[in-house]
Amino acid sequence: MAMDVTVVGGGISGLACARAAAAAGKSVQVLDRGRRVGGRLATRTLWGRPVDHGAAYFVVDEASDFGAVVAGWRERGLARPWTDTFVVIGEDGALTHKRGPMRWAAPRGLRSLAEDLTDGLDVRLETTVEKVEPYRIDGREAGEVVLAMPGPQAGRLLNAAPGADLEWEPVIAVALRWDARQWPGDLHGAFVDGHPDVSFIADDGDRRGDGASVLVVHTTAQRARRHLDEPDAVIPAVVAATRALLGIDAEPAATFAHRWTFARPAETRDAPFHRGPGLSVCGDAWGARSAVRTAWASGHSLGVALSGA
Ligand SMILES: Cc1cc2nc3c(=O)[nH]c(=O)nc-3n(C[C@H](O)[C@H](O)[C@H](O)COP(=O)(O)OP(=O)(O)OC[C@H]3O[C@@H](n4cnc5c(N)ncnc54)[C@H](O)[C@@H]3O)c2cc1C
Repeated sequence: MAMDVTVVGGGISGLACARAAAAAGKSVQVLDRGRRVGGRLATRTLWGRPVDHGAAYFVVDEASDFGAVVAGWRERGLARPWTDTFVVIGEDGALTHKRGPMRWAAPRGLRSLAEDLTDGLDVRLETTVEKVEPYRIDGREAGEVVLAMPGPQAGRLLNAAPGADLEWEPVIAVALRWDARQWPGDLHGAFVDGHPDVSFIADDGDRRGDGASVLVVHTTAQRARRHLDEPDAVIPAVVAATRALLGIDAEPAATFAHRWTFARPAETRDAPFHRGPGLSVCGDAWGARSAVRTAWASGHSLGVALSGA
């Protein structure tokens, strides 16, 4: 029998949507092409420990619905406040500390939070959807269909998918391991202004809480575009830039690069989701700015809307 709701995409927006609909008593299935859920909440075991190579952290308004979810993660030790202070590296190379909102991290990696959201859900992994239409997925009845993925990926499944016309930017995330820490202990993370190759550096040992000497560096979109066919080719430029920016003497002992062709939308839609008969769309392009909390709120509010149907 067909589900009431089938969500294509097991990132945080799809899982939030599925949870809201399931909580309202709908029968729900989540399909994802990956071997694990999480999408861009991505954690990979490198050098014997989890490394976040997708989203770097998340921000939350503790009074929001997402705040209640995060409070539950915190109670169970799955998420923790990381830092409200990052470094900004100016175009002149000067390092200044800048306070902002509290950034949250996950001791076992951000993907563990997506995995926690699957509790009680029917999730089918390694299931690649090829074509959707209202109420149907790959020719089969599917109830209300939800596309919870970047617009260009949705556009491959459906002509003129809502949101597929937005432009998306790539990032290559490069993890670098040294044998010993070589940067200031209060670095936490660094926004890099005006650099051609590097936009952000995160101290992964600091955010994870194990003190490992691992940095994760995000390239600029401009640099990523040159290496989408061969992401490893960006590593020498990223190593050189990181060493120069942080004054690190030694070459890293190990490196790893991951390509995100659709890392973030260049602009977003001023609506929390798209809803149409039998086919709806949610994700981080639906809301004020692309972020983990936007993706969760988009999926959750769509799931609530579908529950009233
Ligand atoms: C490098 C990087 C750094 C970031 N840093 C931050 C940050 O610091 N803070 C922050 O808040 N946000 C950050 N983000 C953004 C954040 O990760 C996203 O906003 C959020 O994770 C999006 O979730 P989503 O569910 O909308 O999409 P996704 O996580 O992309 O999920 C989409 C899912 O759909 C699946 N899928 C796609 N096509 C198909 C198909 N045909 N069939 C089946 N399944 C399919 C994919 O496998 C994937 O699991 C970052 C993202 C990247 C890439």
